[in-house]
Amino acid sequence: MMRVGLSVEEAIQAIMDYVKPVNSIEIHVKDAFNYVLAEDMYASVPVPPFDRSMMDGFAIRAEDVQHATPEHPVKLRVQGRVGAGEVSDHILMPGEAIRIMTGAPIPRGANAVARFEITDAQHSPDAEHIAVLLPVREGESISVKGEDIQAGAKILEKGAVIGAAEMALLATVGVSKVTVYRKPIIGVLSSGRELIGLEHPLAPGKIYNSNSYMLSGLISAWGGIPYLLEQVDDEVNAVAEAIQMAMPVVDALVTTGGVSVGDYDVMREAYQQAGGQVEFWKVNMRPGTPFTFATVVEKPVFGLSGNPAAGYVNAVLFLQGAIRAMAGYSEPLSKPLQVVLADVPEWKTIGMDRFLRARIVIEEGRAAAYPLAYGQSAGIMSTLSGIQGFIRILARTEVKQGDLVEAYLLEMPIPALNNTLPGGEQE
Ligand code: AMP
Ligand code: MG
Repeated sequence: MMRVGLSVEEAIQAIMDYVKPVNSIEIHVKDAFNYVLAEDMYASVPVPPFDRSMMDGFAIRAEDVQHATPEHPVKLRVQGRVGAGEVSDHILMPGEAIRIMTGAPIPRGANAVARFEITDAQHSPDAEHIAVLLPVREGESISVKGEDIQAGAKILEKGAVIGAAEMALLATVGVSKVTVYRKPIIGVLSSGRELIGLEHPLAPGKIYNSNSYMLSGLISAWGGIPYLLEQVDDEVNAVAEAIQMAMPVVDALVTTGGVSVGDYDVMREAYQQAGGQVEFWKVNMRPGTPFTFATVVEKPVFGLSGNPAAGYVNAVLFLQGAIRAMAGYSEPLSKPLQVVLADVPEWKTIGMDRFLRARIVIEEGRAAAYPLAYGQSAGIMSTLSGIQGFIRILARTEVKQGDLVEAYLLEMPIPALNNTLPGGEQE
């Protein structure tokens, strides 16, 4: 049964209840950036794998130098040298030191490292004796085996996104192949008789199809692989046929246009004709009210508004979390940020949640939203570029300057241009 008129939260919930991660694949760590782990990862080796020096200096016995002072330094006999990657076979005896470099394993018998700076030997690499000018405690300047990661420890959890730090973490325990979720393939189908492709000149009554490219970018940004389909006329059979052709090769489909109540708004019927069912239609939001969610051959289908800005808001709210869930994220939904409303142009409150394009800046240590005073209409596309997010004004709610509102971020808030000091003075 198709539900009609959901709240934004109900719509998100219905979608998230439906979507599930795609299957997993094995890839090399070097290729794993932005993939999501499909299994918990454990360390098979400790890190560091041996006690090692954190300084350039001398491996010594702390007890030998406990009374050292600059006036009465302790003299030690140098028994060779060990650099990173080497192993000393000398067992350190009382009164001895071994020259040691950062990263080198601590020789047996030593229990501390006296860095060059507290010896007299920094610039005499071949000295047979050195003087230590200050005491060191046992363990000083030594990084002990397993201090960073113990053998057997869980280093990353299933559902973790692999970034630069995670790639290093996997490599440091010697993992070369990881099991990750495949990136979901998201089909994009724009419908409308007015649309023409970029390879053609404009013709009377026609517009270029821009939604497909907008969605291509958003899908990539959210961890999916966009698969752009040939645009179709808004005619039930043509749309249904395109959907049927697409479903076997995609994990989910996004359509744009045709979900409103106009004569050519054929999308709901086309979903059904393609063998699917409409789960819900219309969300209590503007722009983007006629958003539709359907399933065809048990795959999710997102029916976005044709108006570019409306479709964009639909995508941010409903497609983003779904793609991330399909890509295996353990926390696919990004929470909106609470921001201070810095500016309130004249808007009448409406019976729906309103999503407004806004510049979001960090000023006086907090995130402040400046909703654009122009270009908020659903059909206006140019003002989608250069904003940091959409703020949400709840249905039937009057807001004033200084109120906290939710912001759905597209990018990080930007630092304010003129940093005003508390008290209003200009820096
Ligand atoms: P619709 O949702 O089909 O009623 O379309 C609403 C508005 O968005 C109309 O002005 C359409 O021409 C426009 N539109 C629909 N699809 C696209 C598209 N793929 N690219 C750009 N504009 C579109
Ligand atoms: Mg249309």
